[in-house]
Amino acid sequence: MRNTATPERLIRQEILALHAYHVPPSSGMIKLDAMENPYPLPQSLREELAQVVASAAINRYPDAGAAQLKERIRSVTDLPFGMDVLLGNGSDEIIQLLALAVAKPGAVLLSIEPSFVMYKMIAAFTGMKYVGVPLTEDFSLDLPAMLGAIKREQPALVFLAYPNNPTGNLFDADAIKRIIEAAPGLVVVDEAYYAFASDSFIPHLARYDNLLVMRTFSKLGMAGLRLGFLAGSKTWLGQLEKLRLPYNVGVLPQLVAEMLLAQHEVLLGHAAQIKRDRQWLYERLVGTVDVYAFPSAANFILFRVTHATQVFEGLKQRGVLIKNLNGGHPALVDCLRVTVGTPEQNEQFMAALQESIHQTFRDHHA
Ligand SMILES: *Cc1c(COP(=O)(O)O)cnc(C)c1O
Repeated sequence: MRNTATPERLIRQEILALHAYHVPPSSGMIKLDAMENPYPLPQSLREELAQVVASAAINRYPDAGAAQLKERIRSVTDLPFGMDVLLGNGSDEIIQLLALAVAKPGAVLLSIEPSFVMYKMIAAFTGMKYVGVPLTEDFSLDLPAMLGAIKREQPALVFLAYPNNPTGNLFDADAIKRIIEAAPGLVVVDEAYYAFASDSFIPHLARYDNLLVMRTFSKLGMAGLRLGFLAGSKTWLGQLEKLRLPYNVGVLPQLVAEMLLAQHEVLLGHAAQIKRDRQWLYERLVGTVDVYAFPSAANFILFRVTHATQVFEGLKQRGVLIKNLNGGHPALVDCLRVTVGTPEQNEQFMAALQESIHQTFRDHHA
């Protein structure tokens, strides 16, 4: 007998309607599309790492509480007194865990647009209603619109990326404080790019009962490890811990992250270099005909260019992969996003961009 189990009949409608998160092939290319740290680890550190991994007890389940790693994170993060951390398999997992915890029927997850696409996707995964409030034209927070939406929607969860992805800017901190004060639910400040920014909400954790700060080590050079954390009061984290799958951070990521965080200055040194190179890249983009570059407090730069998709394809043909945001959100028409690479990669990118823009211009004026 034929089985009646088909995806269309079995899978929830909102999941059928989703498009899977697309990761383009990048083999052999200069990869400036995903905000990764372009620097390999120093040789001495690699050798130390090899030893740590060689002696790891991978026959055992990991330490479910990850006590040592948490201790290390506390010491490099300067948490206010009484605050705790919860670890996730990347901060994506933490977004999901937060949504799962509050997803009562009709519960709202509110964020801004354009921003990190996982907020909206995870709202769909967990059956929450998603509300996206548009940023102003220069990508600042529209405070009256935010306060209006908060009053109307009574969101259980608000996500604000600080700095924002893909726009790169830091929002006005006072506007965020007004949002935290007005929100009836949790406000999560997502500091994925903290290492490249000049401000943080970690020092404000003790002041607001409904504030949580999320960070990841992905953009600091550990994207492959998958490790993020949520900082906040034990009152909230104690509840969220119940939903965390006990072994979500494996033996190897725990050991390696702990070792690398002991060298936090090495990684922050890379970040400082990337910030200097961001300035170089920004000035070059600003000085390029047909390009408008947005100021950035992160390790990437958003820019607008005429015929963006064609320029993007031209870059790809020249071996440089960045992110094409044209055709996604209407506020991102003709926008591309480039991750800051090594000085050499940045020069290669700029040369390829000039060529691609000229080629595109010729094609349209032939
Ligand atoms: C990259 C990114 C994340 C996710 O990071 P992972 O820890 O690698 O899952 C979260 N938030 C924002 C805004 C990001 O850009």
